[in-house]
Amino acid sequence: MSRYTGPVCRLCRREGQKLFLKGQKCYTEKCPVERRQYPPGQHGPAHARRRKQSDYAVQLREKQKVKRIYGLHEKQFRNLFERAANISGITGDNLIIALETRLDNVVFRMGFATSRSQARQLIRHRHVEVNGRLVDIPSFRVSAGDEIAIKPKSKEIIPIQESLEARTRPTLLEWLALDEKARVGRMIRQPTRGDIPLAAQEQLIVELYSK
Ligand code: SF4
Repeated sequence: MSRYTGPVCRLCRREGQKLFLKGQKCYTEKCPVERRQYPPGQHGPAHARRRKQSDYAVQLREKQKVKRIYGLHEKQFRNLFERAANISGITGDNLIIALETRLDNVVFRMGFATSRSQARQLIRHRHVEVNGRLVDIPSFRVSAGDEIAIKPKSKEIIPIQESLEARTRPTLLEWLALDEKARVGRMIRQPTRGDIPLAAQEQLIVELYSK
């Protein structure tokens, strides 16, 4: 399963909106979404002129958008959806909560990284501990009460320092706590859909996968 390694700005342009995939750079560099408001590729401008989208196309784009925001492969995303559909509650809500409680996302939300891809790299490079144990799996599911910490030797590494000092850092979400100096955070409680600042219509994804 290979990860997409091309220019991430193309993904934003394909979805027609800023997905903030480059983290801090999205605020400091010129954003291609603002400069070229049509999908990438040879037929991009012609595609933008076509007005009516089928229901399927709308659902597909919504799914692609959310998948790209969280940086998942189709298979990973589909598996999360299957799990979300098999537990009680609203499937769309369950899906977004499952995405949000992945370790890479929690590290990003705590401000240890400026993007989810940078958070994934920190985890893969073994800088992150959960409840005192090194965890190098970005998809690790964080539970209420778990303590997320940067391992002692890595507390002062530059990417973490820069990320915590970034002026555009989003505010800490209510369901998370952070001791910035100690580089330790905690998931206080399980988030609800209302706690998650994600502008997505997850119902469209449920409809797409339920066909
Ligand atoms: Fe997306 Fe950021 Fe690139 Fe803009 S600069 S297109 S928001 S990744």
